[in-house]
Amino acid sequence: GRRRPAPKLVSALTFGHDRPVPIANGGAHYDYLVVGAGFAGSVLAERLASELDKKVLVIDRRPHIAGNAYDYYDAAGILVHKYGPHIFHTNSQKVVDYLSRFTAWRPYEHRVLAQVDGKLVPMPINLTTLAKLYGRAFTSEQASEFLAARAEPVNPVRTSEDVVVSKVGRELYEKFFRGYTRKQWGLDPSELDKAVAARIPVRTSTDDRYFTDTFQCMPLHGYTRMFEKMLDHPNITVKTGTSYDDVRDAIHYDHLIYCGPIDEFFDHRYGRLPYRSLQFRQATLDQTTFQPAAVVNYPAEDIPYTRITEYKYLTGQEHEKTSITYEIPSAVGEPYYPVPRPENDRLFRKYQDLADRTPGVTFVGRLATYRYYNMDQVIAQALSVFERLAEPEPTQQG
Ligand code: FAD
Repeated sequence: GRRRPAPKLVSALTFGHDRPVPIANGGAHYDYLVVGAGFAGSVLAERLASELDKKVLVIDRRPHIAGNAYDYYDAAGILVHKYGPHIFHTNSQKVVDYLSRFTAWRPYEHRVLAQVDGKLVPMPINLTTLAKLYGRAFTSEQASEFLAARAEPVNPVRTSEDVVVSKVGRELYEKFFRGYTRKQWGLDPSELDKAVAARIPVRTSTDDRYFTDTFQCMPLHGYTRMFEKMLDHPNITVKTGTSYDDVRDAIHYDHLIYCGPIDEFFDHRYGRLPYRSLQFRQATLDQTTFQPAAVVNYPAEDIPYTRITEYKYLTGQEHEKTSITYEIPSAVGEPYYPVPRPENDRLFRKYQDLADRTPGVTFVGRLATYRYYNMDQVIAQALSVFERLAEPEPTQQG
């Protein structure tokens, strides 16, 4: 069977995971029902319970807490991330201070290599990348000139292809971006909004860190442990393996915090919001290391996976074996990446209008707001939603 080291969590409810027994009058009453035990739901549950003394029930349909940040020890005893590598990075001191109540940290700067022309070169493209690819040294100035000479002016810049080609030219675009993007999204960069590539910088320095945020760390004992601490409060009851549909009519509560997909909440009445999914292939190898960096990207289109992660780099764990994950993008499966196209944004706005007209429900997190958010952004969002909920007279009606 599958190994799921279930976190020890209190449960005040008596029903099992599969068939909830409806709670009749006189059953448990909660101030808040929180759907989703990821960052959005867990931060809100913690704040409401410990700051406002609210009774909170947190449910998640997965068999574990921590949402997409869930990590666990695999069969070999290596700490791995179930839903792809999660690296914590932020410029928000407020978010760091908040999380630091629940975890100590391990300093970690993320570095990524890409396999291009049979070589492993640093990503994002920087002076070292150019030197390795072209077999000669570059100063900042030479790199700027080199890129400027290849960049193709595009006006206006509309798509992801436009962004990259206008910055680095067609050759580097094809080597690093086109295949990767086509695999990742199932769409050509010319069909994707410019925002998708705007996140990818090109540097005329030797800075080869993947992120430049002031704070880059991993929770010392992992994400799941941090979530356990967050949710460990007498006012909080956690039920995993329990979906909103299982309990919606059985539980008494005053207010709903919904962190699931917004289109699902409204029974997809305007149609489905498109998502890109991933298949994760986990492997444990009988060797201490597999690759020279935490993540190696594979932009070539004839390789089915986009990247391989080796977790020991992230966690610092010492072990005679090593565990890795291949990521294979997929059209079907769990919703991971909202597909950033204008028509999808329009569809989301229709759901958002409905949400605005639904009293007693607060929509929070990446699935309820149909955005790609990093962890720190979701935490910041949840903290500000809490501040709004904590106002003495919420002016919800209108
Ligand atoms: P989630 O973590 O998805 O939590 C939502 C939860 O709600 C889920 O557990 C789901 O099961 C539950 N749920 C949904 N519907 C229902 C329902 N009807 N009933 C019951 N439960 C329900 N961010 C970073 O900052 N750094 C990274 O390196 C990083 N890497 C990432 C890599 C990948 C492959 C992906 C996909 C994302 C990555 N992220 C990263 C983003 C990060 O995962 C999100 O910011 C974070 O998970 C958002 O938290 P959330 O609470 O909004 O959503």
